[in-house]
Formats: sequence, C-alpha cells, structure tokens
Amino acid sequence: AVRVRIAPSPTGEPHVGTAYIALFNYLFAKKHGGEFILRIEDTDATRSTPEFEQKVLDALKWCGLEWSEGPDVGGPYGPYRQSDRKDMYRPYVEKIVENGHGFRCFCTPERLEQMRESQRAAGKPSKYDGLCLHLSAEEVTSRVAAGEPHVVRMKIPTEGSCKFTDGVYGDVEIPWDAVDMQVLLKADGMPTYHMANVVDDHLMKITHVARGEEWLASVPKHILIYRYLGLEPPVFMHLSLMRNADKSKLSKRKNPTSISYYTALGYLPEALMNFLGLFFIQIAEGEELLTIEELAAKFDSENLSKAGAIFDIQKLDWLNARWIREKLSEEEFAARVLAWAMENDRLKQGLKLSQSRISKLGELPDLASFLLKSDLGLKPEAFAGVKSTPEELLEILNTVQPDLEKILEWNKESIEAELRAVAERMGKKLKVILAPLFVSVSGSQRSLPLFDSMEILGRAVVRQRLKVASQ
Ligand code: ATP
Ligand code: GLU
Repeated sequence: AVRVRIAPSPTGEPHVGTAYIALFNYLFAKKHGGEFILRIEDTDATRSTPEFEQKVLDALKWCGLEWSEGPDVGGPYGPYRQSDRKDMYRPYVEKIVENGHGFRCFCTPERLEQMRESQRAAGKPSKYDGLCLHLSAEEVTSRVAAGEPHVVRMKIPTEGSCKFTDGVYGDVEIPWDAVDMQVLLKADGMPTYHMANVVDDHLMKITHVARGEEWLASVPKHILIYRYLGLEPPVFMHLSLMRNADKSKLSKRKNPTSISYYTALGYLPEALMNFLGLFFIQIAEGEELLTIEELAAKFDSENLSKAGAIFDIQKLDWLNARWIREKLSEEEFAARVLAWAMENDRLKQGLKLSQSRISKLGELPDLASFLLKSDLGLKPEAFAGVKSTPEELLEILNTVQPDLEKILEWNKESIEAELRAVAERMGKKLKVILAPLFVSVSGSQRSLPLFDSMEILGRAVVRQRLKVASQ
C-alpha cells in the first residue's frame, strides 16, 4: 500500500512551500488510497523548537491536510519525532561502520574550516578531503577509547556515477565525484538529516518520497545508505520549487512565504489548497475552482512539470474571491469572518488596547481597523507628520527590517528590545525610529501602541507592511 509523508523541520515559521509539498503528498495518498504521515525532523537541535513544531502542526491542520500517523496522533511506527527516536539510528550507523562503508572522523571544526577556506581560495567545491579515511584501525580504537570527539562519515565510490530514475526528472546521473563524504552521526550522537531520513523512511514503510527539488542532489547519498544497509530505496519524486515572478526561488523578500500571513489576512484554506493544487493537475480554463476532493480526483503525478511553479498571488486572490462568493453559504461566510477576526485573540486584544483611547464606540473602526486590513493603501502623505527626511525615513525602514528578522520569539518585549538596539546602533532617538514604523504598520499617525500592534499583527504581516512602505 502507498505510504507517503511530509517531514518538516521545525526551524522557522511554517512555509507555504511546506504546504505545497504536503498537499502533493496528501493528494498522492488520496489518489492511491494510501496513508499520509507526518514526521518531525528535528535532528538540528540548535534550530528546532517545540514552538515551531506546534506552529507547523497548526498550519498544516489549518490547511485541512489531515495525517493518519504523526507525533500528535501516534501510529504503529512511532515515535514520529526524530529527537524521540535518537537511539533507533545508532545500530544502523554501526552496521555501516562495521561493514567498512563508513569511518570515524576526528577532524576538528577548525581543521574543517581551514580545509574549506583553501578549497574556496582554489575555487573548488567544498568537500571533505578524506584525511581520516586512512587512519589505522588501532589508531581509531585508541582515539575512541580516549574519548576523543568524532563523527561518522559515509564512504563514497571513487569513480563512476549514481544513476537513478526520478518520478519527475526521469533518468538522472550524478558523478560520485560530486558527492561529499556525508556525516551520518554527529559528535553528540545525533544522526544527520540524511541518516535519520533514510532510516525513518525505511522503518515507517514509506513507499514514495515526494519533496522539493533542492533534495535531488542528495539522492546519491540516500541511495548509497540504502545500499549499505541492504534496503530497497523508495520511489523518489522531486517537485519543482515555487518561484517568484522573476523565476527566482520563492523568497520572503519578494512574496509572503509564511502560512501565517495568509491566515492573518483572511485567505480561506480551501482557496490556498485550490491554488497550490493547480500546480499538480492539468485542467481547461474555466475549471479552476476545485475542492481538495476534486483536486485528488484530477491529480496526476505522471505529468509533472520541471519548469517551476510561479507563485502568482493575483491568481490566489482571484480564487479566494471566488471561494468567498461561490462556495460559502451566507451562514458559513458569517461564521468564517467571526472566527477569523477572533483568531489569535486579534480582535479581543485590539479592543482591550482601544478602550482607554476612544470617547465613542464609533471611533473604534478608525483606530483599530488596521489590525484586520489586508492592505493599508499607504500613501506617501501618510508620512507627512514624520519629522525625518524621506532619505532618513527609508534608511530607518531598511535598517529595521533585517533586524526584526533576528527576533526569535515574536512578542512586544522582544520587538521593543530589538528596536531599542537599532536606535542605539544608528545613534538616533527611539522615537525617531518608531515614528515611520508606526505609520508603516498602522497606516496613520494616531493609532494603538506600536509594540502591541506589531505583536498582534504577527511577524509575516509586519514584514509585508514594512516592505510595502519601503518601496
Ligand atoms: P526562505 O528562503 O524564504 O527563507 P527557506 O528555503 O529557508 O525559505 P526552508 O525553511 O528551508 O525555507 O524550507 C521550509 C520548507 O519549505 C522545506 O520543506 C522546503 O522544501 C520548502 N520550500 C522552501 N522554499 C520553497 C519553494 N520555493 N517551493 C517549494 N517549497 C519550498
Ligand atoms: N526535513 C526535510 C525538509 O524540511 C525533509 C526533506 C525530505 O522530505 O526528505 O525539507
């Protein structure tokens, strides 16, 4: 039976790319009467957090992509979180070492950095040079016994190439020379993504691996690990990434990429799935409006394009409008609007902040509507009262944006701390920094407190508003 999975790493705000790959797997499972599984890949302990994991689960649930096995619902092949499976990988790594397909590497981070430095200087691709490949068995044993920190790397054939068939790319050939001696087990005993991914796909009986094309170059490593373990690889399908209008990889600098942005602005999950699903099917003009069941029925994984899916937000807007007008009953529409306004306590918090700032209830919309708007319609005049020159204004907006990206946990305290630090660094008074931000985020000069508003709006919406304001 078909078993597919989405395997997100909880290292950041859930990405529409994750929803796109998840939807493909979900439709593939539906089409073939198979299972769709969720696995959390958190082997990168420095970047993974429980908060991001919860956000990924919430975002995929919001999308309506239900999984039959996962960290929250359990299942026969659990646990479904790699950090909870740590001990399951070691025997596989040991087997690879014992059979002579892997080796222990004692190179220090400093030595590896020097190595990369000289490779860079020589214009060569960065690749492990094989120093520890030639250590004698005695030396390895004694260094391990002495407790010297080390990793396990995989051996790579020295000649020939890896040939495989990909469900999208067809026949692929990658020379072994281009493949690095990948670390399989890190010094802290955690497996790397490659090792854990292969072992888990095997143990979870995954039949088809569908993921972003950025993983195509990793397939030789994965095939080799399967071979070293005497296992049959699954079928691979590498999906073309979504792209900006200029064909570059979809990036938050050009398009909103957080699922939370679409949630916050009142896109319907059905419309977002409809939009993403159109990348996987072929239909005639006029047949675009489709539910997830209809998408599954028309789904055809045989004819996928390598060209790249252009993320056309106007098309998404058009579909969303059609969903609102044509697919929701009056009651459903009202219920959706209310649920959306209450989401994340947006409305409740907005009211709380407004209470001490209005003298008649009718003043509320002017004061607080920016919290619910999808587009502020910001005009240059809005900045008229800001004392900085247009050049200073732009400098402030451009300086603040990357700094806000550094905030780990998005709340008013961390926002305030970051903005104070920016002000200090720029040698400006805090209020000089805040004035243009205030207008960019709220659309006017008289509004609710900035840090609270930024927290309520969320990072993705603030990012988009600052981007619009600095254009
Ligand atoms: P950004 O460059 O916007 O910060 P990213 O590449 O850092 O994005 P990741 O956090 O690495 O994003 O990716 C999260 C998930 O989203 C991965 O599973 C990745 O395959 C998928 N993804 C990222 N970008 C795209 C894209 N353009 N199209 C499809 N999937 C994508
Ligand atoms: N954890 C990987 C990611 O976030 C999964 C890649 C895969 O599906 O193998 O993209």
